[in-house]
Amino acid sequence: MRYTSTRSKIRSITSAQAILQGLATDGGLFVPQKIPKVTLEEIDTLKSKTYEQISAWLLGKYLTDYTEDELGECTELAYNWFDTTARVPVAILIQDPKNPVAPVGNIELWHGPTSAFKDVALQMLPHLMRMALKKVGETKEILILVATSGDTGKAALAGFADVPQTKIMVFYPDGGVSKIQRLQMVTQVGKNVNVTAVRGNFDDAQTGVKKIFNDKKIRATLDKIGVKLSSANSINWGRLVPQIAYYFSGYIELIKANQITLGDQVIISVPTGNFGNILAAYYAFRMGLPVKKLICASNKNNVLTEFFKTGTYNRNREFFKTITPSMDILISSNLERLLYHESGGNFKLVNQYMSELNLYGKYTIDKSLKARLDKIFQAEYVSEYETQLFIKRIYNSFKYLLDTHSAVSIAALSKYRGKTNDLTPVLSASTASPYKFTNAVLSALNQSVDGVDDLAQLDLLNKLTNVKIPKNLAALSTAKILHEDICDKEEMAQRVLDFAAK
Ligand SMILES: *Cc1c(COP(=O)(O)O)cnc(C)c1O
Repeated sequence: MRYTSTRSKIRSITSAQAILQGLATDGGLFVPQKIPKVTLEEIDTLKSKTYEQISAWLLGKYLTDYTEDELGECTELAYNWFDTTARVPVAILIQDPKNPVAPVGNIELWHGPTSAFKDVALQMLPHLMRMALKKVGETKEILILVATSGDTGKAALAGFADVPQTKIMVFYPDGGVSKIQRLQMVTQVGKNVNVTAVRGNFDDAQTGVKKIFNDKKIRATLDKIGVKLSSANSINWGRLVPQIAYYFSGYIELIKANQITLGDQVIISVPTGNFGNILAAYYAFRMGLPVKKLICASNKNNVLTEFFKTGTYNRNREFFKTITPSMDILISSNLERLLYHESGGNFKLVNQYMSELNLYGKYTIDKSLKARLDKIFQAEYVSEYETQLFIKRIYNSFKYLLDTHSAVSIAALSKYRGKTNDLTPVLSASTASPYKFTNAVLSALNQSVDGVDDLAQLDLLNKLTNVKIPKNLAALSTAKILHEDICDKEEMAQRVLDFAAK
C-alpha cells in the first residue's frame, strides 16, 4: 500500500514515510492509493480475536511496510495501559424498551491513560514513528507539534513522553479547554515535553502550527540543529489509521451481544470536530463493514451540518465556546480526505476547494459529489440544552453516565430517528469519560456547581452516581504544575525554535 497527496500528483510514498512527514509538501493530506476491501467471512474471524489482534489485523491492511511482528508490538505497547482488558468495550443501551430492535452500542473509547478517545491512536503513534525512523534510516530528532482544543494535547504528551529520538510541543487556546484538561497537560512530566498556552481560540493555535509547518525558513533552521518537524494531529495518517479498528470491534461486540447478526447494517454516530473519528468510520464502511449511514453529530458550531445539508462549507461565522470544547472547530481538516476519496481521487478539484477555503473561507462542492455524500452521510447538530437533556435522560433511564461529547452523538442520533423513524441498530462513539467534563455533567443532573472547584466536582459526581473516577484524574489534585508559559500567536514560531534548541 502506497500513499499520495489529496492536492496534487506526487510520487507515492510508503506508510512509514507518510507517518514521519505528517503533511504533504503541497499542503495536502496523505491518503492511501486504494482502500482495501474485506469480506464478511473475514470480519467473522475477528470474533475470536482480542482488541490488540483486531487492531494489528486492521493496521496490516494499510501499513504494509511494517512486519506483522512490528504491528503486534505496537498494539501491545499501545493498549497495555488501558484500564479494561476489552480496551474499547461497548455498552448496550436499548433506547426504546418497547422496540428492542433498536439498540445503541456506545463504544467507550476512553479507557486509556488520559481518559480520552484520542489515547486509542496516540498511544500507538509514537511507536509507529519510532519504527518508521529506523525503516527510513532517519537519524534526526523528530519534533512533534500539536495544536489542541483539549484532549489531543494530553493524550499526545502521554504517548510521546520520554520516547527516544522525539520531542513534543503542545499549544492550547488559553481559556479554551476545561480546567481538568489544562491540569492534565500542565502537569505532564518528561524530559522531551513542552506545553504552551496561546492567546486566541483553537483555530488560531492550529493555523499557527500549520504556518510553522509550511515555513521553509524555520524548517531550514531546524534542519541545521538536527531537528525535523512532524505532527500528531489527526491529519497524520498514523493518528487516523488506528481508529478504524474499533468500528470493526464494535460491530463484532454487537454480534456477540446478540443485537445483530453478521451482515446486518448499522448506523454509526460520531461526535465530530476535526472529522478524524468519523473519517475512520468512513474507511471502515468503504472497506466493507455493513454501514447504512454515518451520522456526523455537531454542536452549536455547526459548519459541518450546513456543509452536508447544502454542499457549501463556510467558515465565515461566529465561533462559539461550548460545553463540548473538543468539537469547537470551524475548519475540520480531515474532511479533505473524504472529498478526495468521494471525488474518485480528483486532487485538482480538492486543491481548488482548499484554496477557495483559504482565500474566501468557503467553497461549494459540485452536485455529483454532493449526491455521493448524501448517500452515506447524515448531519445533525444539537444545542447545549439538548446535550445536557440527553445526559440526564440516559442517566435516568439506564444509570449510564455520558460525557457531553458522547451525549451530542446520542442526541443527534435521536434527532435522526425522530425525522426518519429509522430503527437500524447503532454504534455511537463515546469519546470521553464523564469525569473530564464534570461541570457540565453535574449541572445536567441538576446539581449546583457554584463555588465547587473542578477537582471537588470529581468527588461530587462520584458520590451522586457511584461511577468510578479514573485513576489518572483522581491523581491530578496532588500533581505538580510544570508548564506555565503563555504566548501570542505571532510568538509561536520563536517558541518552537527555542524549545528545539534546548
Ligand atoms: C477530539 C474529540 C472529538 C472530535 O473528534 P474528531 O476526530 O476531531 O472529529 C470528540 N470528542 C472528544 C472528547 C474529543 O476529544
